[in-house]
Amino acid sequence: MAKQAGVSTGLVAHYFGDKDGLLEATLRSLASRLSRAAAARLRAAATPRARLQAVIDANLAPEEMDQRTGAVWLAFWGQAIHSDRLLRVQRIYQRRVLSNLRHALTLLAPSSEAERLAIIIAAIIDGLWLRTTLAASWSPSDADAARRIAAGFVDTQLAASTEGYAMPMSPPVPAASSQRRLAAWIGGRAAPDATAETFVSANPATGEALASLEIAGIAQVEAAVAAARSGQKVWARMTGMERGRILRRVADILRQRNDELAELETRDTGKPIQETRVVDVVSGADCLEYFAGLAGGITGESVDLGPAAMGYTRREPLGIVAGIGAWNYPLQIACWKAAPALACGNAMIFKPSELTPLTALKLGEIMTAAGVPDGVFNVLPGDGRTGGLLTAHPAIRKISLTGSVPTGKRVMAAAAETLKQVTLELGGKSPILVFEDADIENAVSGALLGNFYSAGEVCSNGTRVFVDRSIRERFLERLLERTRKIVVGDPLDPATQMGALISEAHMQKVLAHIARGVADGARLLCGGERVTRDGLGRGFFVSPAIFDGCTDDHSIVREEIFGPVMAVLTFDTEEEAIARANATEFGLSAGVFTRDLARAHRVIAQLEAGTCWINTYNITPIELPFGGYKMSGLGRENSRAALDHYSQIKSVYVALTDVEAPY
Ligand code: NDP
Repeated sequence: MAKQAGVSTGLVAHYFGDKDGLLEATLRSLASRLSRAAAARLRAAATPRARLQAVIDANLAPEEMDQRTGAVWLAFWGQAIHSDRLLRVQRIYQRRVLSNLRHALTLLAPSSEAERLAIIIAAIIDGLWLRTTLAASWSPSDADAARRIAAGFVDTQLAASTEGYAMPMSPPVPAASSQRRLAAWIGGRAAPDATAETFVSANPATGEALASLEIAGIAQVEAAVAAARSGQKVWARMTGMERGRILRRVADILRQRNDELAELETRDTGKPIQETRVVDVVSGADCLEYFAGLAGGITGESVDLGPAAMGYTRREPLGIVAGIGAWNYPLQIACWKAAPALACGNAMIFKPSELTPLTALKLGEIMTAAGVPDGVFNVLPGDGRTGGLLTAHPAIRKISLTGSVPTGKRVMAAAAETLKQVTLELGGKSPILVFEDADIENAVSGALLGNFYSAGEVCSNGTRVFVDRSIRERFLERLLERTRKIVVGDPLDPATQMGALISEAHMQKVLAHIARGVADGARLLCGGERVTRDGLGRGFFVSPAIFDGCTDDHSIVREEIFGPVMAVLTFDTEEEAIARANATEFGLSAGVFTRDLARAHRVIAQLEAGTCWINTYNITPIELPFGGYKMSGLGRENSRAALDHYSQIKSVYVALTDVEAPY
């Protein structure tokens, strides 16, 4: 029996008398031999398609199908129906095959397809194996034929699934006939691919097509990983001071080109030029400058272990990291992720949002012009599929995402497959608490900044404004007076204070939230309508909306709207305000307005939020950590805290005496 199963006679002897145990041990031995063979083939496979083939080849190898081994496998599968122990081994084995297939497929097909295809391919492998094993006469060429059939089937399935997934980008925008076609930035240069699918980036204020961009697929992701791998080696060999000097030059160029970049950002996002000129580029440059300064001081520590030994730690880069950005602060987000990553000696592959890809590509050019080695900062325009490819790639050691909670969950789940680290900067529904002793003018300013800056498309916005009942009238009066004066208009006009929302789809979502608020019984005090006068109808403008009479269960009070919609609520006691402020799954930010400093600190200490303000709102200096509690995220950006998320610690024990060994 041992001979027939190809296992040691010792194993059989060990289990003699325990038939089920013997069968189980033998099946385990066969299954783990096959798993080891598959693992060896997977290690040798260089591409995702090759990894897929490795699973097929291992399972349909001649040695698994010859008549002797085939007969043993068949006997086991037959027995498994009657034995829980064998069934358990069979399930483990099948799960392993599925997981290997799924993992390779996440780099080859849309994630929704990967699971389905993995199941189909596993079934085909089983079917081919069974057919070949049951054949009356058997020769090794039958195994070759089976593998060829499986490979052909896989290629057909992959082609069909990628085709099916090639949906048009939303929203539809005019063709960019006269526009440049922009490609990924890989290895310090544009990397065009004539065969790539493209999308159009449009100005949400006018509908004008700005550029046509190639969607980075598997080939670009692999090229970017290869470029990052060699670039990172060069970059990590430099001293922190040298890296810092180059990053400082990137900051300088950003500042020199502030107005040009701000205008591009305004065209791509619809945000007013009066904002992008003073915030978007500047805060990116600040971040690069800050981490440039820290780069030379990223060190480990020395640890005293007594006279016989010493210890020290090295703070080392993770390797290749990926950044995935949202559309509201495209250049700032790219800088906030790249600066700490590069300061620590990593290489970054950045994927901007498909809605706002233009300034990240400019940042790629600027990095190269400033002397960042080729491959250290790569930009891959694309959609969620490109993000998915990065998240699944085994060579990428970390993903830093700025995006919505659902995307954050998907990214974290996908990153688990390759045990990547994740930093997640997600959404929010943050509270602002205005106490009866607050400076009303300042509190109104904070509420306006925290709701209507960037047309409300800011993750940390304080969209639930809790006001002490005793000052509600005064607060609302000034709030309305000042809101009605907000100038909505052409974002390129320096007088404009509120520009367009990012897309028609997003505008419709914001308008639907407003309609729902009205239907739920909240009072719309002003705004909340689409603005179409003076040619603005070509874009996606909504006037700033203030709701009063809201209750905590209204959807406008619970859900992140990401548009210019403020909900005002009243409270009677400090305890009540804190409890209601915390009654949300989010925890990104919170603000408190009061002249009583003791109360300010007492209340802030009880608020469940990662980024808080006292007597102001939405100021985010690079020196302070930024990030959320609860569903608003994991990890921190900015400040020294970000360095922890882009580096790893190596401990070194150094013996100073002879090695004592009892052997
Ligand atoms: P999304 O979550 O839709 O997208 C964020 C990024 O993730 C985009 O680049 C997107 O690609 C990409 N992506 C989508 N699906 C996947 C996937 N399966 N795997 C990997 N990447 C994927 O967010 P939005 O762009 O709509 O941004 C708005 C959200 O971002 C809001 O919820 C807001 O609160 C949050 N945000 C948080 C901030 C923070 O710091 N906490 C700051 C700014 C915004 P594509 O869009 O190209 O398809």
